[in-house]
Amino acid sequence: MPFTVAVDGPAAAGKGTVARAVAARFGFAHLDTGLLYRAVGAKGGDPVAAAQSLTEADLARDDLRSEAAGEAASRVAALPEVRGALVAFQRDFAARPGGAVLDGRDIGTVICPDAAVKLFVTAAPEVRARRRWLEAGGDTAPESFDSVLDQVRARDARDMGRADAPLRPAADAVELDTSGLSIEAAVARAVAVVAERLERSSGG
Ligand code: C5P
Repeated sequence: MPFTVAVDGPAAAGKGTVARAVAARFGFAHLDTGLLYRAVGAKGGDPVAAAQSLTEADLARDDLRSEAAGEAASRVAALPEVRGALVAFQRDFAARPGGAVLDGRDIGTVICPDAAVKLFVTAAPEVRARRRWLEAGGDTAPESFDSVLDQVRARDARDMGRADAPLRPAADAVELDTSGLSIEAAVARAVAVVAERLERSSGG
């Protein structure tokens, strides 16, 4: 079985950064599974039909990174039929030879329950909202810090409260709280966990 790293956690906790860095460090392929849900939300129309007919081209749209696309993603992601239609794509990606890193909300719990490494990357809601707000320009951002914090909390509530594949750490996940960590320190910890497991799995 190829080596799989599952990276889950709430929005703006740093999981994308950690996942990309781990993939680059070990030469694994990387899939940001949030893009699948964003693409389904952005297609409009019936979300189940959109999920069933999703193509690589849909993932390349340049309007998928906005907060509005994230909101739309979080709504369609609560539909079991949408989630079901996206399972095979994600598992096929994980099965490619050479190893893969997948980041999302349910990778360690549902998509790849046998992943060699499961990381749950998290941070306090205020810290995540602050990162989002600073990215958007801080004092010159179109939205106030409080409104960004409200959005972060609303998305957490929807992702954690849904019945199907709610956001939660797998029982065997390593938790990485990035609240007080620099990007470099968070990446270094994740790399250390993966290196240790790789060494163990190769009998070293
Ligand atoms: O990670 P990102 O912010 O791009 O994800 C957008 C939304 O897609 C999340 O808020 C979540 O509702 C949904 N999602 C999911 N399962 C995943 C990845 C994303 O439900 N594996």
